[in-house]
Amino acid sequence: MSSLFAQLPKVDNVLDRTALQDAAWSRDLAKSAVQAALTQLRLEIKAGTRDQVPSAEALADGVRATLVRWTTPHPRRVINATGVLLHTNLGRAPLAVAAVEAMAAAAGVCDLEIDLASGTRGSRFAVLRPFMSALLGAPDVHVVNNGAAALLLACTALGKGGAVAISRGQLVEIGDGFRIAEMAATGGVRLLEVGSTNRTHLRDYERVLDPAQTDTPVQALLWAHQSNFVQSGFVGQVDLSELSQLAERFGAPLIADLGSGSLGGGLPAHEPTIQAYLAQGADLVTCSGDKLLCGPQAGIMAGDAELVNRCRRHPMARALRPDKTTLAALHATLALHAAEGEVPALPLHRMHAASGEQLRQRAAALCDQLGWEHTRILDTKATIGGGSLPGDTMPSVAVVVARERPNQVAKRMRLGIPPVVGRVVDDAFVVDLRSVLPEEDPALVSALVGLR
Ligand SMILES: *Cc1c(COP(=O)(O)O)cnc(C)c1O
Repeated sequence: MSSLFAQLPKVDNVLDRTALQDAAWSRDLAKSAVQAALTQLRLEIKAGTRDQVPSAEALADGVRATLVRWTTPHPRRVINATGVLLHTNLGRAPLAVAAVEAMAAAAGVCDLEIDLASGTRGSRFAVLRPFMSALLGAPDVHVVNNGAAALLLACTALGKGGAVAISRGQLVEIGDGFRIAEMAATGGVRLLEVGSTNRTHLRDYERVLDPAQTDTPVQALLWAHQSNFVQSGFVGQVDLSELSQLAERFGAPLIADLGSGSLGGGLPAHEPTIQAYLAQGADLVTCSGDKLLCGPQAGIMAGDAELVNRCRRHPMARALRPDKTTLAALHATLALHAAEGEVPALPLHRMHAASGEQLRQRAAALCDQLGWEHTRILDTKATIGGGSLPGDTMPSVAVVVARERPNQVAKRMRLGIPPVVGRVVDDAFVVDLRSVLPEEDPALVSALVGLR
């Protein structure tokens, strides 16, 4: 083992190889990368998982690959052929062209916090706030960095000095192991669970709200949309309007975490909208900007003016403040929602609205362009995804690209130019067209041609 350590190349020896001479990185950065690679090799030798060491040349080649990966733009554009329209791992909602342009325009010097008419300091929410209030029919709105931040800020500001009560049936875990209740409590507020997993009654909430029956004052109620799962069988949750009456009786605000942030406008009618939650009596609705709203990653808070203001003035709000490019993209997205009629410019709406016939025609054209004999058109089911509409599918059309070694083909497609993320259905690798926009078809064809 000690001889292996002795055989490790010297840092300077690796650094001097031509593979590491590149204007894309400084010598200092290359040196750090070489040192990290050598540290990794030492660990492997120590663990006994390595019985030979690479030459200085081979090590330099490996470090070059790392440096190229570090200095190449990321995240890169990918074609989503999974049939999951809002794919969290693929960046959720694809932005509308107008939103991308607005982001670019705001990226330089912009009038973020200046009132150009008077030349005095303004607010970054000066336009967005009254515009969103009118669009959502909410007395006031505030915007933070993501849905989780909106939930955290609402519970921290409104639950201050006591607890926030939530039904055990709504203790949702969203992606990556994050749980609503834990996020809500991070700001130091106590979360009080009421009811049971399958059933929660009005009297469960009533008990914790009644000062005579509890030692921790409940300052607010939290209602969480069971966004990514469905319960069936012997189940029951109190509905929002009933809960709102109870909350009002005890003077406790009702926070409703909607999650998906639908504004309606042509998307599935049975996913609740922000407007509907407000109409049912939620005092403050929180949701994401990059799910059904189709905007950038953001957290929306809409509702009672005094409550929104308490959130806005809470010191934590400053730490959750969105940047200029986010606000620009959100504004442009909402301007599209504000337009009369359907919302054709939003990519998600276009994907959702595509007819079976349109998808089939595109699939046929794709097969023609590839000219391979084994491609087939397959009827599939697509989903909206993004933690909305669990169990809900819509008809879709896919092209079967490979029947053999589908997982290997899937990997080659992921590493293609451009990368394509498809899926494996019945042991075949397929590209589902509902999550691909028509203008991406040529890029999809060229990536597929690369398979040959
Ligand atoms: C997605 C989701 C969140 C978190 O929103 P992010 O924007 O991902 O932070 C919170 N609550 C519910 C119910 C959700 O579906």
